[in-house]
Amino acid sequence: MPDESFSQERAGARSPWLIDTHELGRRPGSSRELRLDITVEEPLGVPDVIIVPKGSAITLDLLLESVVEGVLVTGTASARTTGQCSRCLDPIADEVEVDVTELYAYPDSTTDETTEEDEVSRVVDDRIDLEPVIRDAIVLALPLVPLCSEDCAGLCSGCGVKWADLEPGHGHETIDPRWAALVERLEDTSGEKSNGSDR
Ligand SMILES: [Zn+2]
Ligand SMILES: [Zn+2]
Repeated sequence: MPDESFSQERAGARSPWLIDTHELGRRPGSSRELRLDITVEEPLGVPDVIIVPKGSAITLDLLLESVVEGVLVTGTASARTTGQCSRCLDPIADEVEVDVTELYAYPDSTTDETTEEDEVSRVVDDRIDLEPVIRDAIVLALPLVPLCSEDCAGLCSGCGVKWADLEPGHGHETIDPRWAALVERLEDTSGEKSNGSDR
């Protein structure tokens, strides 16, 4: 006879993010650890900036606890990220880790009766769906302006080469047109002065 208490495979047939909490038995105090790698089907994040790439894994290290109102999920989720430095455009490979604290309300609990479903997650048919919670947490934790290093100097605006690859003292003769006009005027003024004093 199959072990009914460990029915994650049954849930997994639908979505790996759907976790069966049946074995917690709605007994406050009972708990279960959940360590799971879930393969990313759709990349998370902003393309060409930073993403958790398709085919990589999101690693869950969670504790599922039965509390009076529902199932409390705490722990961490972590994933590899790939992206592009927003200053020098070098590829970046990094990691993201988020803390997770989420209550899934039991049906007919006070929380279930007094909150909307978009406010507090729900236990549905003994299952909880980790996907929206984990996805949102990871996307929010991704840097808006990813950098290869905190002090990345970026690119020379004159030639587009990374400052890190340029000789010390690198520069360009070209001057911004607005400055060029100003420099010309200054030169005129100083020229007049010197001419005047020579006379
Ligand atoms: Zn950089
Ligand atoms: Zn340059």
